[in-house]
Order: sequence, then C-alpha cells, then structure tokens
Amino acid sequence: FDMFVLAFLERFFRTTYRKDDFILGKKLGEGAFGVVYRVSLAKKPSSKKEGDLVLKKATEYGAVEIWMNERVRRACANCCAYFLYGFLESSSKKGPEYWLIWRYEGESTLSDLILSKEFPYNVETMILGEVQDLPKGIERENRIIQTIMRQLLFALDGLHSTGIVHRDIKPQNIIFSEGSRTFKIIDLGAAADLRVGINYIPKEFLLDPRYAAPEQYIMSTQTPSAPSAPVAAALSPVLWQLNLPDRFDIYSTGLIFLQMAFPGFRTDNGLIQFNRQLKRCDYDLNAWRKTVEPRAGIELRRGFELLDLDGGIGWELLTSMVRYKARQRVSAKAALAHPYFDREALLALSFMQ
Ligand code: ADP
Ligand code: MG
Repeated sequence: FDMFVLAFLERFFRTTYRKDDFILGKKLGEGAFGVVYRVSLAKKPSSKKEGDLVLKKATEYGAVEIWMNERVRRACANCCAYFLYGFLESSSKKGPEYWLIWRYEGESTLSDLILSKEFPYNVETMILGEVQDLPKGIERENRIIQTIMRQLLFALDGLHSTGIVHRDIKPQNIIFSEGSRTFKIIDLGAAADLRVGINYIPKEFLLDPRYAAPEQYIMSTQTPSAPSAPVAAALSPVLWQLNLPDRFDIYSTGLIFLQMAFPGFRTDNGLIQFNRQLKRCDYDLNAWRKTVEPRAGIELRRGFELLDLDGGIGWELLTSMVRYKARQRVSAKAALAHPYFDREALLALSFMQ
C-alpha cells in the first residue's frame, strides 16, 4: 500500500469526535499554550471512574501539534503517547481552540519519578516487573538508569528518523506508559518537522532554557527563513546533514542522564546551578569534573562512581551527548549502539576469559 492511500483510509475510517463527546476530569497541566485534562468519553461514562483519555485545549500552536502527532502515529507510533484525534473547536468563548486527544498512558512523568527519594528503585519494578537479584547499590542503580536511557534514546531515534526534532525534551515531557511498561515522549508542541518544513523557524521562546543546548537556534543562522514546503522537502535532508538539528535533543537527553546519575541536579535549582558551572567551564564536562571532583561531597562522588563503572563507559556516553558543538554530539542511533548498553555482553565476555 502506498503511504498516502493508507493515510487517506485512516482519516476516512477513524472515529471522529466533537466537544460534547468528552467529560472533563482532573487538570493535568497548564502551560502558556494550552491546558491538559484527563477526560473520558461521554458515551461510556461508567466504564472507568477516571478518564482513560487526555485532552489538550491548545492555542494557535495546536495546529502544528496535531500535524506532528498524526505524522508520529503513522511513522513511529510507540515513540510517543498514542494520539487519537485532533480538531478545531470554534464554539469556545475564548476563541478558536485546537483540541487534541491521546490515550491516558499513566500517572507518572519521568520528572515525578526522578524527584522521588526512591529513584531509581521506584522505576525498577515499573520497567522490569520484578526486583533484580542484586544488592542495592550503584551497580543495580546503573542498570535501571541504563534501561531508562535505552528507552529514551529508542523513542528519540524514532522521532529523528521520521525527520522530527522535538526541541523540548525534559523529564516533564516523558511519560511512563503503564500498558507497555516503557517511557514515551509527549508534548510535540515545540517540535519541528524538517523534511516538510513545518514549524521550520525555531521559536526560541518555546525552548526551555534549563534543558536547551547552547546553540539555542537549531538551524544555523545561514538558514533564517522557511523555504516553501516543496523546496524544504528537497533541501532539508541536506540541511539536516549540515546543521544536525537532532543533536539539540541529544544535549537535553544528556542532561536527563546527568540528573539521573546525580541526585543534586534533579531539582530546578540544582540543574540551573549545574548549567552555570558548565558554562563557566565552556561546556566542557571533563573540565567541569576537574573543578568539582576534588571538593565533591558524597553525593557527587557517588554519581561519578556510577558513571565510572565498567571502565567509565557511562561517563564516556554522557560526555559524548553533552558537548558544546552539535556536530560532536552522538546521534540517537549511535548512542543506542554505544558500549554503555552492552554491559551484559561485556560481563559475559569477561566471564569467558
Ligand atoms: P504542556 O504543553 O502543558 O507542557 P503536555 O503535553 O506536556 O502539555 O502535558 C502536560 C502534562 O499532562 C504532562 O506533563 C503529563 O503529566 C500529562 N500528560 C500529557 N499527556 C499525557 C498522556 N498521554 N497520558 C498521561 N498523562 C499525560
Ligand atoms: Mg509539557
């Protein structure tokens, strides 16, 4: 089947919804560009006490977000929260709104989970289903963090292979899907699809400064305006190669890795403090380490110890993600092939020798 025929059939046969079909539940979030609620379908109100869907009432950026979600659903459905439907709701008093509907994936974002005192053990049973046969300690914590990183990079690789850069990767935008026991990406509100030129000009004000890579502008200043769609479609693979816009998300994902290894950087203030320190070291993680390690407290030392396991392979991966120059950062696909993720294979090898 041709992709376009499929897309057409899907649109044609998919259930469509209207405003009155939903019963609003708890508010899950409120940002500058929309409000998010847990909702249920009016047709089956008693099916569940709380809704099994999520609704975002979005402003003008909702149109782009619907477009991104539909593309993701066709190209890499399990990278992101499952998107059902989006439509323009024009009868609202506040003016036109875009309504977007997803499956309710679960109650925890990675932000909730890393802020818990139990992290990473609170995630262990969620992703592995059972407790590992290892004593508590950095080895076991590292395995859990490794699994989370693998899932994040897998989802990110799916998005990037589709030509989408997320631009707002942070723990608040990673949801734990209870159904599939995996982390998925949410909130494509700031995403850009470079292959067809949708949301081509980066809107700086959409970027979260705590997780943003130093380049800020994802496309270089040599490509300041959006070409028309067909021109962009032809050019963008080239632009992608030149500018490596995906590496913006890699930097943010590296910061999440850092937060998982170092409890002190998990809060907003902790992360802001780290960013300040790193900037002072010209974004050189090894230089940063040299300045902080000699006077490091027990928590910081424990983080380095975790990353130094297996010959420092975790530290190696971290430093290949958090780099000043986008082109020196690994891609999501290359990161997935990094030896950090072969720990079991390495262990088996050392056992045989
Ligand atoms: P915002 O633009 O407000 O950041 P998000 O899309 O990030 O909107 O959603 C806000 C919050 O709603 C998320 O941080 C998460 O807690 C919750 N949420 C969003 N989508 C889902 C989903 N599919 N399943 C469960 N919770 C979700
Ligand atoms: Mg969000």
